[in-house]
Amino acid sequence: MIVMKFGGTSVGVPGNFDRASRLVAARTALDPVVVVSALAGVTNLLADFCRDARARPEVAGRMIERHESFAIETAVPVAAIRALLDAWVAEAGAWADRPEPITGADRDRVLSFGERLSAALFAAGLTALGAEARAVHAGEAGLVTDDRFGAAHPLPESFARVKDSLLRRPPIPVVTGFIGATLDGRVTTLGRGGSDYSAALIGAALEAEEIQIWTDTSGLLSADPRLVPEARAVPALSFAEASELAYFGAHVLHPKTLLPAMERDIPVRVLNTARPDDPGSLITPVSGPSDSPWHVKSIACKKRITAVTIVSTRMLLAHGFLARVFEVFGRHHVVVDLVTTSEVSISVTVDDTSRLEAAIAELEGIGRVEVREGLAVVAVVGEGAPQKIGLAGHLFTLLGGVGIAVEMISQGASRVNLSFVVRDEDADRAVRLLHRGLGLDVEVSVEKASRAMR
Ligand code: ASP
Ligand code: MG
Repeated sequence: MIVMKFGGTSVGVPGNFDRASRLVAARTALDPVVVVSALAGVTNLLADFCRDARARPEVAGRMIERHESFAIETAVPVAAIRALLDAWVAEAGAWADRPEPITGADRDRVLSFGERLSAALFAAGLTALGAEARAVHAGEAGLVTDDRFGAAHPLPESFARVKDSLLRRPPIPVVTGFIGATLDGRVTTLGRGGSDYSAALIGAALEAEEIQIWTDTSGLLSADPRLVPEARAVPALSFAEASELAYFGAHVLHPKTLLPAMERDIPVRVLNTARPDDPGSLITPVSGPSDSPWHVKSIACKKRITAVTIVSTRMLLAHGFLARVFEVFGRHHVVVDLVTTSEVSISVTVDDTSRLEAAIAELEGIGRVEVREGLAVVAVVGEGAPQKIGLAGHLFTLLGGVGIAVEMISQGASRVNLSFVVRDEDADRAVRLLHRGLGLDVEVSVEKASRAMR
């Protein structure tokens, strides 16, 4: 069996919805299990509903309008979502006179309407094509989680439960992405973008032959195409390479997606719903070839990063200093990305700074703390690239040549990623420069050159 996951733009644009359902219907022999996101924009709409009480009447109406008109446009009987729309009306009505923001378990229940509605639409769309399907609420199908609402973790027993409940096929199960349930039956969500993760968990539970992520790009790209027009899909990547890209790169894959697949050695394929014949990217334990003489596959970039440096002469020849620093970050749930150390200082980069202030207050008891905002992490990703003799020299010469200052470098431990930090305003230029300078523009420039010669 295979898992076919369709993202918000794949199910939420009428032309793509039709294509997606035909793609599934054409693969019934492969025994597909479908996982869907909410229609594009719907989770944001529901998040607005939770945040802003004044917006609620309008958003409540837009939810109904969006799904009804979508059903009509895609020729799905509106009856297929009637019960869910009624449940939504009841949910929205219950919040009508309450001015407070909706949080925790309530928020997750509200957000779940997006995926529940799209699963119902998609199952009805498949059935209309003659491929009998049923919509499945992931939580009810055994994807049980802890009760960290908004960022729930699946429980180990999920695997056996999901396997049991999705055993009966056909009808083709169309499972809600993004959501699960606590053991006592309350809806949870896995974090924004979590439908990819749902697909991987379900694929792992069912020991799928392949997990397909159908999205709006033709795979994982060699750079963000908005920055680098020459960027193109990387045909084959290792799990390690793809994880680095998912974490640092464009939002094609949710960073957690690859873990369950990796643990069970299940290939993940990233494909384009609008261009289903494009080969996409195949992610397996082995890295594929690279056009770059430096073995680089892709240049990723994460902006709006903050660097925190703790300087303490007490660190000199002392032990336990790093442990104390990380203990503070850990206790305040601050996620740290890059780390560099010297004998008397440690610098780390932080993406989500929402809990940083409290951590800094404590770190000040350990040493002098410097905080720099407005930075970007650029990650040069490719299995074996960091070990290529001369790569670092070449790369920093390129950057130095155009006057881009490098603030932090981290390569040591990783076989797949050489990362460095620059100022935000230099990041785009750095990515473009390295894409060309490390040989990733090659294919296209040959094409362009031959076009120019014609
Ligand atoms: N609909 C959810 C979101 O927008 C989950 C997903 O699409 O993966 O975050
Ligand atoms: Mg996504």
